[in-house]
Amino acid sequence: MQATHEVFNQPAPLVDVNLFETNRALQAALAFNAPGLDTAGLRALGATVGSAEMQTHARLANVFTPQLKTHSRVGERIDQVEFHPSYHALMREAVGAGLHGHAFAPEETASGTAHLRRAAGFMLFTELEPSVLCPISMSYAVTPALQGNAAIYRDWAPQLTSRAYDPTLKVWRDKPGATMGMGMTEKQGGSDVRANTTRAEPAGSDGWGQRFSVTGHKWFFSAPMCDAFLILAQTASGLSCLFLPRVLPDGSVNAIRIQRLKDKLGNKANASSEVEFHGASAWLVGEEGRGVPQILAMGTMTRLDCALGTSGLMRQALSIALNHTTQRKAFGKVLIDQPLMKNVLADLALESEAATALALRLARAFDRQHDPHEQVMARLLTPVAKFWICKRGSHFAQEAMECLGGNGYVEEGGEGIMARIYREMPLNSIWEGAGNIMALDLLRAIRKADAAAALAHELAPAKGMHAALDHLAARLPLRVEEMATEMEARRLAQDVALAVQAALLAQTAPAEVFNAFCDSRLGGHWGYSFGSLSSGADVDTIISRAMPRA
Ligand SMILES: Cc1cc2nc3c(=O)[nH]c(=O)nc-3n(C[C@H](O)[C@H](O)[C@H](O)COP(=O)(O)OP(=O)(O)OC[C@H]3O[C@@H](n4cnc5c(N)ncnc54)[C@H](O)[C@@H]3O)c2cc1C
Repeated sequence: MQATHEVFNQPAPLVDVNLFETNRALQAALAFNAPGLDTAGLRALGATVGSAEMQTHARLANVFTPQLKTHSRVGERIDQVEFHPSYHALMREAVGAGLHGHAFAPEETASGTAHLRRAAGFMLFTELEPSVLCPISMSYAVTPALQGNAAIYRDWAPQLTSRAYDPTLKVWRDKPGATMGMGMTEKQGGSDVRANTTRAEPAGSDGWGQRFSVTGHKWFFSAPMCDAFLILAQTASGLSCLFLPRVLPDGSVNAIRIQRLKDKLGNKANASSEVEFHGASAWLVGEEGRGVPQILAMGTMTRLDCALGTSGLMRQALSIALNHTTQRKAFGKVLIDQPLMKNVLADLALESEAATALALRLARAFDRQHDPHEQVMARLLTPVAKFWICKRGSHFAQEAMECLGGNGYVEEGGEGIMARIYREMPLNSIWEGAGNIMALDLLRAIRKADAAAALAHELAPAKGMHAALDHLAARLPLRVEEMATEMEARRLAQDVALAVQAALLAQTAPAEVFNAFCDSRLGGHWGYSFGSLSSGADVDTIISRAMPRA
């Protein structure tokens, strides 16, 4: 067969680059939040996650998706999920990099920067593959809630904080490492978990405290092959938080039946299941009847990860768009030299840097919980960052995908990652509290915390640097103090996010980035789509800062 044509004008994919070294926004945010931080580990991780080998694992784990095996060949119930070896390679790398519970290891907490460093690593890993980060995130987030049962935490902490990945189904004490998940959502309600019908009957007590027999179901139960879960179930005292291991201390398998796996839009490499509990054994964590606040200690940390994850996906989408447009020619120029394409790319770069700055600022707050201001910021910025960054994600992915033209829409190797990013984006916005729930949570946060004063304090360093930010910053604490109604909650969350992002950029980014962000997002020189920065924006400087190659 003779070729009818030559293939040309096709960009080389972005592989074998160090994703940390080329991410200036990430480096600036780290330098701001923890000056002098040792970033050697992140640099090494940046090389690993940017490598062609790991990118291949990410592709394969998404093509060869998890398979549920409910029964053995001879009819015994086994409830196992089988994964492609590439999934395990990704999990091993993420656990090895300490992205799960390692931040709670004593030597890590002593450093005072464990959550921030881990947050940066989590963002970098998202650029490789976000689905495996579901069990990784839950295994990270579980510690503050699990500490509500000191005996269980003492027994499980070594496995949850170790850097060893062991996917085998065994009693925890025989494993070098363990992972954990969570089960709250039932068919009749996910946001309103008070509607949970799963029942827990007392079944004596032992070294782990009060034991219960659990009967019921969970409608979304991600990563069901984790070693244990925190779940909500109704006891005589009301909704309670329970620890549910897959293998019981005597080595027998707990009565957790996986009904089926979800057929999801994205997040393909991760198994999300529907389960039933048939008199499964579980132990009380925290106070009986106070399950919601108890499990929300876990929810708070996973919400941080939603903001981090979406920021990582934004950075990845932007990098791919920049890589493509620097190589692809149309109408006699490379795309990146076309003025309107510059506007789109620069606008995306502003959004990506602002997301990175806000997500890492929030992570810092979890390292400094001894400081009253940081306590308020953790409470205030968790719903704000989760709401705003995740809400912007899908719009961002669509625009970055469009930079690649038709190839962006195609599900195939190389730049086909863009389609995967696009399908992944809505997830962080929905799970762990959808947009409205986050905005309503902000109202609860400002009711409890001394939020107005803390916000004013947070914005103060940027005072006098941009008229539009000054205007917003002067009014925002008052709006917080007066308390918005539910109808206004999304608008308040948006405005708090934009003000904090602007104040952070004032301290971490070049003036060109800060000014264009404020002019567009706060000053009204902007449209409803990306690519509508005013002609005064220094798009060349903004783009060159975001370039994914050295
Ligand atoms: C891929 C995936 C994995 C998941 N994994 C897990 C898991 O491992 N464990 C787990 O427990 N859950 C998991 N979930 C479930 C997820 O957390 C819930 O879907 C989510 O919390 C929303 O609950 P729901 O689906 O019941 O929707 P609903 O609660 O019915 O909410 C529907 C809509 O109504 C809005 N809404 C609700 N209340 C109000 C109100 N008062 N005012 C205004 N608007 C409101 C919500 O914002 C949302 O937009 C997963 C979901 C997905 C998609």
